[in-house]
Amino acid sequence: MKHLSKKKIIEALKDQQSIFGDFLFEEKLNKSKIIYEETPEIVEVVREPIEETPNLFQSEDDWHNANTLEELNNLIIDCTKCVLHKNRTNFVFGSGKPDAKVMVIGEGPGAEEDKQGLPFVGRAGQLLTDILKAIKFEREEVYIANIVKCRPPENRTPLPEEMDTCIPYLKKQISIINPKMILCLGLTAAKGLLRKKESLTALRGKFFDYEGIKVMVTFHPAALLRNPNWKKDCWEDVKKFRKMYDEIEM
Ligand code: SF4
Repeated sequence: MKHLSKKKIIEALKDQQSIFGDFLFEEKLNKSKIIYEETPEIVEVVREPIEETPNLFQSEDDWHNANTLEELNNLIIDCTKCVLHKNRTNFVFGSGKPDAKVMVIGEGPGAEEDKQGLPFVGRAGQLLTDILKAIKFEREEVYIANIVKCRPPENRTPLPEEMDTCIPYLKKQISIINPKMILCLGLTAAKGLLRKKESLTALRGKFFDYEGIKVMVTFHPAALLRNPNWKKDCWEDVKKFRKMYDEIEM
């Protein structure tokens, strides 16, 4: 029988969790971070207490008044508001056209993103570039950002409290960029921006509203790399996204 590494099992579980929802997983304790532990027979979800961090955020409200992305970046680049700052190599603010009509939102930086300080680099980033190209968007004409700006350890899903702490920065980016449409990649992005609790299956391919901006949810490119059979559904989603964009722009 083919032996699967722990990393592959965890990634597969995360994909299943995003597609079918949380109910497949048993929670052992009430509070805090989720880790996946492997036993000879099963892989189960265990919750561990999280370390509390003091609010060390320097000038509490300065960033609210930023008028440009550059200004905002400079004001939040040293953020230590949640535990994710402890393991980061680089803060990953986002990249792209400052007045883009389309924003793409992912979950958080992975290893390569953390190393380079840029979102969606590496294989998943290349696939995202290809997806955008397929619907006639150049990567340079959109703006790409994440729900959290520092890499979660072991690429785990950001915890709700980490997302809640970081999302105001993303919302400020959205208000500065003022896009016409947003494409959320994966369930974490959808949950974070739209506050939805449904599974990805229930959310993908539909349009939602975020402060007057049309938002669509589809698969995360990293999940597509692991599950190429989902590419067809993703293609249907992004074609719809492009069609709506063309209607808005007419
Ligand atoms: S993830 Fe967001 S809130 Fe947490 S330390 Fe990084 S920038 Fe600050």
